[in-house]
Amino acid sequence: MTVTRFAPSPTGRLHVGNIRTALHNWMYAQKAGGRFLLRIDDTDAERSEERYVEAIRADLQWLGLIPDAEVRQSQRFALYESRFAELVAGGHVYPAYETAQELDLKRKIQLGRGLPPVYDRAALTLTNEDRAKLESEGVRPHWRFKLDHGAPIEWDDAVRGAQRFDPATMSDPVIRRADGTWLYMLPSVIDDIDMGVTQVVRGEDHVSNTALQIQMFQALKAALPRFAHAALLTGNEGKLSKRIGSLGVDHFREIGIEPQAVRALLARIGTSDPVEPVADMAPLIAGFDFTRFGRAPARFDEGELAQLNARILHQTPYAAVADRLPTGMGAAEWEAVRPNLNTVAQAAAWWQVIEGPVEAPEPAGDDRAYLAQAAEVAGQIDWGNDPWHALTAALKDATGRKGKTLFLPLRLALTGRAQGPDMAALLPLIGRDRTIARLNG
Ligand code: GLU
Repeated sequence: MTVTRFAPSPTGRLHVGNIRTALHNWMYAQKAGGRFLLRIDDTDAERSEERYVEAIRADLQWLGLIPDAEVRQSQRFALYESRFAELVAGGHVYPAYETAQELDLKRKIQLGRGLPPVYDRAALTLTNEDRAKLESEGVRPHWRFKLDHGAPIEWDDAVRGAQRFDPATMSDPVIRRADGTWLYMLPSVIDDIDMGVTQVVRGEDHVSNTALQIQMFQALKAALPRFAHAALLTGNEGKLSKRIGSLGVDHFREIGIEPQAVRALLARIGTSDPVEPVADMAPLIAGFDFTRFGRAPARFDEGELAQLNARILHQTPYAAVADRLPTGMGAAEWEAVRPNLNTVAQAAAWWQVIEGPVEAPEPAGDDRAYLAQAAEVAGQIDWGNDPWHALTAALKDATGRKGKTLFLPLRLALTGRAQGPDMAALLPLIGRDRTIARLNG
């Protein structure tokens, strides 16, 4: 059974980069007929906030990425404690007593000598007496995971291919603070084991964490999940921008972006498959494949999202939006105006055009007489069958007008605007009486 998880820290709102990671996890699970879990990484009680937990749930709901289950790290400390005890017993973790200042000084000295700032494992040389003395002085240790330097750490990443790290070049990671609180690294592994996660899907900023975490899986005698690290998102300007960090569901909703557009875009950027205006996730899920992912950063373009949103709306059936349209607006009205929409909210303005009153500009020159003639013709044509073509064909014959001079004065008088939906679709909705009244000014 395939199991994925999305593991945000509730220290802020989800941004488009997080949303993409959630989507990848969801799509992968959907395709495999597996489970998609939400894990709230709230071990950091200071920085985690309940309102962000709620916002994460609401955002996933809006996006249609519904987790099959949710777990919270803050409710799982007993599990971490017991697995930690196993690591202590197995000699996989060790206490260290350096202060932050001491560690900082060590790093500066190493860097000054042109050496990589790798922790020197001084804590491993402490004797029992040394430790007893420190503890009697009230110094509490933090805990490090002891990397096994025996062999390179290797995995076959679903996106990046063969990966290889030399553990001797990495610091033994701190996994627990002196006050007993947990850092991200170990609880994540314990949870991935306990939750039966088979595929860890996340951004490439976690690649070096994966190297460390692989040894934690091994120390806990667990099978490794598969790993997939997607290249990060960049903005238009080609670097990981502040803008991206600020774009989330709230912003998308506010500017009238539909969840379908967010999904269709984020499912495809950074892959070798084209972005397509599909509202239905089924074809996107069916084609989802990490081997299609590129190694270059994926470019997120707000303009592309807006365009995709419009193209998706142009195909959206009435039933999907009916509850967000003005009361009274029916399927025929939706279908007439939808090709002109960038957002659902814009439908209201066209509903107003259909219902009236419209404010039309003063007709110029002999257009006034032309419109009066049009009103007369409108009273005579057959409204049951394509009245716009009946009206314009009759006016063309009667006046010799054609093209813009034939059509534009009618459009202006009937809608108050120079542009808009196809008049053939609009006119039957405006109807005979309103048409005659508007043409008569
Ligand atoms: N809470 C971590 C983060 O948001 C989770 C990383 C992971 O997927 O393991 O970066």
